[in-house]
Order: sequence, then structure tokens, then C-alpha cells
Amino acid sequence: MADQLRIKELSDNYRAVNLQIENICKEANVKTPRLIAVSKYKPAEDIKALYDLGHRHFGENYVQELTEKVEKLPKDIKWHFIGSLQSNKCKVLAPISSIFAIQTLDSESKAKKLNQARSESDPPIHIYIQINTSGEENKSGIEVSDLEQIEKLANFILENCPRLKLEGLMTIGSLAISTGDGPNTDFTKLVFLKDELKSRLGIELELSMGMSNDYIEAIRQGSTNVRVGSAIFGSRKSKEEMAQHA
Ligand SMILES: *Cc1c(COP(=O)(O)O)cnc(C)c1O
Repeated sequence: MADQLRIKELSDNYRAVNLQIENICKEANVKTPRLIAVSKYKPAEDIKALYDLGHRHFGENYVQELTEKVEKLPKDIKWHFIGSLQSNKCKVLAPISSIFAIQTLDSESKAKKLNQARSESDPPIHIYIQINTSGEENKSGIEVSDLEQIEKLANFILENCPRLKLEGLMTIGSLAISTGDGPNTDFTKLVFLKDELKSRLGIELELSMGMSNDYIEAIRQGSTNVRVGSAIFGSRKSKEEMAQHA
């Protein structure tokens, strides 16, 4: 169990984020998005504290860390994998019953591997295609301008992957853009892509966009899934610091 002070801190942060979401939805007159609590680098006790408040959707970035937490925590948690998806990890992730969503799919070959490794007895995995909307080289995902490839992948999932459910599009907004004023152009591009796919394929997709520093704007622009880490759990150590302490 997390200690009482930590539990209080987490529940205060959690309530504050929920309240902000509620306010912005009223103001913008949009539907309340799903809140995914991003728990990477944070202990299982922190997750359990939010679980005890009724929260179920959690996001993780690393396969090893995720599998350890799945072992320790209640089985009805709905896990979202939001880290970069390596081919050889598809067969590790897909068999985990409580994997609810994989948000970082970027190729047919990975879709095929996930589909093959998902058991018939588990619910289909919700799939988000990751889109690189900012053009930054350090960001994964299919280039937003490559409409043909995106449409092809969407069709591939719809037609060939019964163990996967194509659910939406995901992007990580660029930090530079998120700190500017006015509509976030990364989010504008994702909304445009969603509309384009609707007219081409006749499907209504969800949007996963918005993190601690830009979720308010993302909701204004129509996000249906926000992925919030540090605003709930506090700041994280950098990867380098984590490695030193390991
Ligand atoms: C870490 C991470 C988040 C959460 O980031 P915060 O800024 O801490 O809210 C959201 N999405 C992805 C893909 C991440 O890697």
C-alpha cells in the first residue's frame, strides 16, 4: 500500500484533473473523453491507489514494466500500451487478457503478429494507428501526409484482423506547438485525418491526443482519449536517472 500522504496527493491530483476535464467539456460543449492515467516508472502502489478510487484505464510504455504490473495488480484493469511497439514484442503483449488497447500500431506486419497472438477467448484488442503529425524525426508513427499508407493499414486491420478492433488514431503533439497559443496544429491534422478516413472508409474513429501539458487544448479540439501522466502522478525521473538508480 502507498502511504497515506501519497494516497492523498494522488487523489487530489486525480480529482483536479477530472474537474478540469469536466469544466472544459462544459465550456466547449463536447463529450467527456476517456482519461488514461499514464503510470510509466510509477510503482504498482500508485496505480492501486487510483484503482481504489474507481479508476480502471492505465497507460504503460514498456513491455517488461507492464507485464510486472499486470502480475501484481487487479485483473479488471484496462491497460493501454502507449510505448513504441517493437515487432518482437507483439507476441508478448497480445496474449495478456487485460491489454485493452495498443495505441502505437504503425505497420501491417505488426497488426498481423498481434492478431495471431491474441486468443479467441479474450476480447479483441482496441487498436489506434499512431500518426506522426509534427514531422519530428524522434517521433514514431506513420507520416500524417501518407494518407495512402494509413488507409491501407486501416483496411488491413478491418479485413484481416478479427482479433483486433480498429478504434482510432493517436498522436503525440510536439512540445513546441503545445506551448504556443491557439489551436494546436498537430491536433488539427489528426482531426482532419479522421474526417478524411470517415469519408473514404465510412468509419468513425476515436482520437487519442493530449498529455499533461496539452490535454485541455486536445479536448477543445475533439479528443476522445487523453493520456495524462505527470499531472496525476507527479514528475518522472528521466530515463538516464532511472538507469543510474537501477
Ligand atoms: C509519457 C506519455 C504520456 C504522458 O505524459 P505526461 O506529460 O506525463 O502527461 C502520454 N502519452 C505518451 C505516448 C507517453 O509516452
